[in-house]
Amino acid sequence: MPDKLHSAVSHQLGVSVENRPILATVFNKDCQDTVTIFGGFHGDEPKSVHICREFIKLLSQHPAHSRHTRWVIAPLINPDGYERRHRRNAHKVDINRNFPTENWTPGKRNSRMFGGPSPGSEPETSAVINLIAAYPPHVIITIHSISDGRFCNNYDGPAKSLAEIMHQHNHYPITSSIGYATPGSFGHWAGVEKNIPTITLELPSHHSPKKCWQDNRPALLAVGAFAQHSQLS
Ligand SMILES: [Zn+2]
Repeated sequence: MPDKLHSAVSHQLGVSVENRPILATVFNKDCQDTVTIFGGFHGDEPKSVHICREFIKLLSQHPAHSRHTRWVIAPLINPDGYERRHRRNAHKVDINRNFPTENWTPGKRNSRMFGGPSPGSEPETSAVINLIAAYPPHVIITIHSISDGRFCNNYDGPAKSLAEIMHQHNHYPITSSIGYATPGSFGHWAGVEKNIPTITLELPSHHSPKKCWQDNRPALLAVGAFAQHSQLS
């Protein structure tokens, strides 16, 4: 008989500019200790989507990992960009610069990091904000990938100890800054302004999807244990 308490439910958070569904899978939905994981903010970073999908598979096969944790996993925030393998959405807005933060600026329209016509203008951004409201997270992991050896566990908000736990498993460097300003980023919105421990997990773009998964599977599971013992709410 299936374990009903720990079985997964699927949610549609909204649709993209081009009407593609934006989906999340929730395990152990009635538990309060929530870890929320995002992938595919940038359509040209498919490894982030791969890791989320592998993690959903793992949790589906091993319900014990969800016994004390509510996992909320949204593998692909920017399906239109992913379809084209482009960073930005179909409006050519960088979703990771479109969050309604106090430091939001549009930037240049033709830039890879264009923040959009106004803060929170994009349906993909609204989908993320709605998910955070529906399942308030104790901790957030947002997965990206990066070139030139800059892979890291980048933390925003009260997440240094969480970054240290992930580092013990994936051995990526810990940083509090990616090295350049990121106005309107999700990390700033969730970590700095909402005070939710937030890790931007930057995968090494030169590693295979398989290696990224092997290195980060134990790191993600360790985050679940951290959320259970965290006093943060
Ligand atoms: Zn990215």
